[in-house]
Amino acid sequence: MAVTRANYRSLSATQRKTYVDALLKLKKDGNPATGRNYDTYVNWHYQMMQLPMSQMRAHMSPMFLPWHREYLRLLELDLQAVSGDSTLAIPYWNWADPTAGASESLWGDDFMGGNGRTSDFKVMTGPFAVDKGNWPIVYDDTGMLYLSRAFGSSAAAPGLPSQADVDSALALNTYDVDPWDMSADISVSFRNSLEGWGGSDPRLHNQVHVWVGGDYATMAMGASPNDPVFFLHHSNIDRLWAQWQDVSASHTYLPVDEQPSRPGVSLHSTMPLFPATVTTADVLDYRALGYIYDTSTPSPALHAPVSRQLFQRDFRQDFRFVPFRGLVQVPSFSRDIRPLFTDEDLKQMAFAFDLSNYADVKANSEAIVNRIKRDKGDPMLMPPAPRGPWTTVQVRLFQDWISGGFRP
Ligand code: ZN
Ligand code: ZN
Repeated sequence: MAVTRANYRSLSATQRKTYVDALLKLKKDGNPATGRNYDTYVNWHYQMMQLPMSQMRAHMSPMFLPWHREYLRLLELDLQAVSGDSTLAIPYWNWADPTAGASESLWGDDFMGGNGRTSDFKVMTGPFAVDKGNWPIVYDDTGMLYLSRAFGSSAAAPGLPSQADVDSALALNTYDVDPWDMSADISVSFRNSLEGWGGSDPRLHNQVHVWVGGDYATMAMGASPNDPVFFLHHSNIDRLWAQWQDVSASHTYLPVDEQPSRPGVSLHSTMPLFPATVTTADVLDYRALGYIYDTSTPSPALHAPVSRQLFQRDFRQDFRFVPFRGLVQVPSFSRDIRPLFTDEDLKQMAFAFDLSNYADVKANSEAIVNRIKRDKGDPMLMPPAPRGPWTTVQVRLFQDWISGGFRP
């Protein structure tokens, strides 16, 4: 059964406790079935960060998103095992929410605990404060040997990323580009833009690490998973990748083939460190891995050429329904109007809607109506019928949609 990764804000008090208890149990006892404990994960990440840049694959590389996807999935399975709760899922922290920041309930005493104190960045509250005795730091690279935080203290990241920052990354149509590293053009590379290199970096993913950890504390360092908020942050990063993947079937992983300039990060490269052989290709379909997000599109069949995200940003003014490949849904009506169209109509619409921008959709939609007029006669003169192709009402709906005049 697929689990649903939820915005942590929608968790009940019981669910917050279940998640925290699972982390503490994995830290203390580990999962005997896999031989892993929480610090296994800290160590893996720390090792990945020790490599010279040319050998970096889990970071500063196209493999950044797949590697962290598998990393979170393995942790999630271990947390499910130690908690005995097969519905447990890693929640996500939507740091682009305008109300995100130092005062949100993420940092509650019953959840992630609060900011570090000014003198030595030591986190004093919550289940992971070192003085509570349940969260010893094994792989330390801060020199502090305790969970430390310093919200917004770095001049490089006084604030969290905005939704506009997120949207600008999601609007990119290319997964990654040569030279496939931290210098990949962030006006082209979705991965590098989301990872947060280039431009006025740190941005997005990197910015969140630096906002929480400042210049020296846990989240800013290679052993950043010592801070359990790491996984809520990366759950959100993975959610954004999932959302981007759902926008279009053409939003696929690159590079497909091995690149001499950047070996080991192609679609079929094996990811480093994980116990089983796992390639990027194995983790592209997140639903097949056993989880979805509470923001995911309804099903794999509704692999949306136009995502909810793009709909909300670009289409809200004009349209009240979202075209999916092969289907047309009217969310505000909560009904599927697919039965109004024949298979052939759907095929044509699917072809037209498999496009990522408004101008193309509009141009192709007009082409469809012109073709219908040519092949079937003027649709507005066709008699209405309870069944069959393109009744007057259907065509008017479609034409109204094209002209932006559709209002439910
Ligand atoms: Zn990482
Ligand atoms: Zn990270």
